[in-house]
Amino acid sequence: MERYYQPEIETLPYEKIREIQNEKIVKQVKHVYENVAYYRNLMDEKGVKPEDIKSVDDIKKLPFLTKADLREAYPYGLLGTDLKNCVRIQSTSGTTGKRVVAFYTQHDIDLWEDCCARAIVAAGGTNEDVCQVCYGYGLFTGGPGLNGGSHKVGCLTLPMSSGNTDRQIQFMMDLNATILCCTPSYAAYIGETLAEKGYKPEDNKLKAGIFGAEPWTEEMRREIEKSLGIKAYDIYGLTETSGPGVAFECSEQRGMHINEDHFYAEIIDPETGEVLPEGEKGELVFTSLDKEAFPLLRYRTRDICVLTREKCSCGRTHVRMSKPMGRSDDMMIIRGVNVFPSQIETVLLNEGYTPNYQIVVDRENNSDTLDIYVELSADQFSDKMAETQKREKVLTDAMRAMLGIGPKIHLVAPKTIVRSEGKAVRVIDKRKLHD
Ligand code: ADP
Ligand code: ZN
Repeated sequence: MERYYQPEIETLPYEKIREIQNEKIVKQVKHVYENVAYYRNLMDEKGVKPEDIKSVDDIKKLPFLTKADLREAYPYGLLGTDLKNCVRIQSTSGTTGKRVVAFYTQHDIDLWEDCCARAIVAAGGTNEDVCQVCYGYGLFTGGPGLNGGSHKVGCLTLPMSSGNTDRQIQFMMDLNATILCCTPSYAAYIGETLAEKGYKPEDNKLKAGIFGAEPWTEEMRREIEKSLGIKAYDIYGLTETSGPGVAFECSEQRGMHINEDHFYAEIIDPETGEVLPEGEKGELVFTSLDKEAFPLLRYRTRDICVLTREKCSCGRTHVRMSKPMGRSDDMMIIRGVNVFPSQIETVLLNEGYTPNYQIVVDRENNSDTLDIYVELSADQFSDKMAETQKREKVLTDAMRAMLGIGPKIHLVAPKTIVRSEGKAVRVIDKRKLHD
């Protein structure tokens, strides 16, 4: 039987969710206009007044906020309340440049932890579970968010933080962890290390994993589920909106339910900013409906995905987002062709390789180059040149069929590509160094 953390909200009919959103947005816009001078200026420039926003349908009248705004307003410019009301600061992991800091009141922390608790219960968590959190703790939102959610559910929480994989495994086995929370790349690494230590997937007590904070493919999901003997659930979020738990997967594993009572989602055309109808692919934009300290309106995430309101068998009514296929700024333009790292990962795992790879893009004689370093497993590794060359050719052809351009494949020896304990660095774009 499906269980929910807050059934009365999670299964609320759509019209009722809408009513809640309409009520909250009116208050939130007023709150922001009165307290955040930076955003008030943007609204004034656009000629929008708080009274113009009567329901979520009017959100499209509001100006967007971008990461550039966050940097410009750093550190206090988007604060929605007195600092004395704030109890916490978190910061982005800085994947794509200067860090952003976000502020939280106790109310904001509470609703964030509720969102994470919903995700843990959706993955089957109860107060009988032992939840091992190996997302990084500290400024990064992963550890604190899942830690708080785990407490709310009543799980016995193991606040491991990331790293020290031997200790992770020792505690996982000795203390019978049943739920694992970390990035998918770290989950794959833990799975690999367990196997090396001679454990079989059925030797651990894990039943579920809650993995997010970076893009991962369905192929990667199957790989992790196999190596750990679990069901792997996706979780999505970003520091700007609070952290992980903005959206999470249910037993259906077909898209993540967005916590719509707290976050209003839109999909826009990233070029024109126009709102796209349900089912179309575009950039995800969030409006936080009830955050006090860092109340961003129409924040452009740069994550590309699709929304659907199709009925979900789990009984949750909140809109679902597809796995983001990467950020718009993850997309590489190589010899004029758009390439996403996720496409490369799909080909690699389909062709039977491990998820240990690195993509290097460079420019030589005014032409882009794409090199993919792929690690062989011990059974794939061969010292026969002819065999390796044959493998490289097969993989190059499969890549060309998927990407439309042919990369140079380098098959490298086992254990030569560095493993990730947090967000994996998949792409090194050397072209940026030359500019
Ligand atoms: P940074 O921008 O420094 O990485 P965050 O740690 O706040 O800062 O990361 C948020 C971003 O991480 C999201 O905008 C998204 O691109 C990515 N992300 C988070 N969860 C997922 C997920 N489940 N699938 C794909 N990408 C994700
Ligand atoms: Zn569902």
